[in-house]
Amino acid sequence: MRALRFAAAALALVVMGMAAFAPAAATADPLLAYGARIAGDDARTRIVIDMDREPAFTIHYLDNPVRIVVDLPATAFGFPAGDLKPTGLFKDIRYGTMDADSARIVLTAKKPVKLVVAKVQADESGKGQRLVLDAEMLPAGQFADLVKKQSWTSEDTAKDVGPVEPTQKADPNTFLVAVDAGHGGIDAGATGTDGVTQEKDITLAFAKIFADKLNAQPGIKAFLTRDKDQYLSLSERVTIARQNHASLFISLHADTLKQKDIRGATVYTISDKASDRLAGEVADRENNSDQVAGAEAQAQPAAVTDILMDLTRRETQAFSISLAQDVLSSFNGQISMINNPHRHAGFQVLTAPDVPSILLELGFLSNKDDEKLLLNEDWRQKVADRLTEAVKQYRVSIVANGG
Ligand SMILES: [Zn+2]
Repeated sequence: MRALRFAAAALALVVMGMAAFAPAAATADPLLAYGARIAGDDARTRIVIDMDREPAFTIHYLDNPVRIVVDLPATAFGFPAGDLKPTGLFKDIRYGTMDADSARIVLTAKKPVKLVVAKVQADESGKGQRLVLDAEMLPAGQFADLVKKQSWTSEDTAKDVGPVEPTQKADPNTFLVAVDAGHGGIDAGATGTDGVTQEKDITLAFAKIFADKLNAQPGIKAFLTRDKDQYLSLSERVTIARQNHASLFISLHADTLKQKDIRGATVYTISDKASDRLAGEVADRENNSDQVAGAEAQAQPAAVTDILMDLTRRETQAFSISLAQDVLSSFNGQISMINNPHRHAGFQVLTAPDVPSILLELGFLSNKDDEKLLLNEDWRQKVADRLTEAVKQYRVSIVANGG
């Protein structure tokens, strides 16, 4: 994709403007945008533009196709076009002069988006200013409202920028659990020894049973990240949990291993380094989910990694481990587990910095006995009951600790 620069057209406009109105003062000293970066994925994307001084700006949204319009005072765009190559949520990015006094950046998105952050901050040197734009996916209905309610005459963009509304309406005392059925749509996940059973179906069937059981508990509400055979990227799953301020995120899987004799459940939490080779292999396979579906490779530059690695995450990590332990004690003696059933590795789906998250491998589709269980209704009910107990136990301990 290309980022068009209207250098020649811009110059012509400026010249014409000057000839007609001679507003020399307005154009003599345009802002200089001297650097730009873009990073992110199909759920969240950050754009940073380096400027020589603080710009005033306004934000608007347009539909068909979905666009974010950033209006700026007269600006000279001096960075290489390749620095704002459409990435993540955006499929086209254009910028250039509108008239003698104004410039515009138009970000065309692949799906409904909203800026959750649009701010100017000083760079490290203190000499320049950075325009920081953080975009997140949002439900189509919310985007339509945004387009309808915005004002093009007001300078106030604050109401057009901010967090995405939760889709799950829950009162603040409700303990909200995001139940994530692994894989889906074009990404079928693992296939059973019979060559027929697909992981994406196992996870969805189980997720529904589990969510129903959680919803039957007073004070607990569960929702599914997907409730049908639908592809969701790993980042979309994380973002759905975060946007809804979920108290927990539980991702459900049933993978295959080369070692066909290995069976039983495993609970994973996130870590930079895998606890063991098996955990590393499972994480690699799960992280490959997006590539399987043909999504672009998602090398995350430092700017995005930083967001994920903030302080909150350390606290979240402790809660995730606590939940994993509650699951293990609830399973103990009831549900078969592999040796060392709590393992950790760098699962992308567990990267929400503010939502305690675990990934549960219910069993292995590479093992005939596990496969039989995974398809067995009584077993599913029993595992969902034990998991529900674990969530209840976790919640009690969090409340007891004032969390
Ligand atoms: Zn899986």
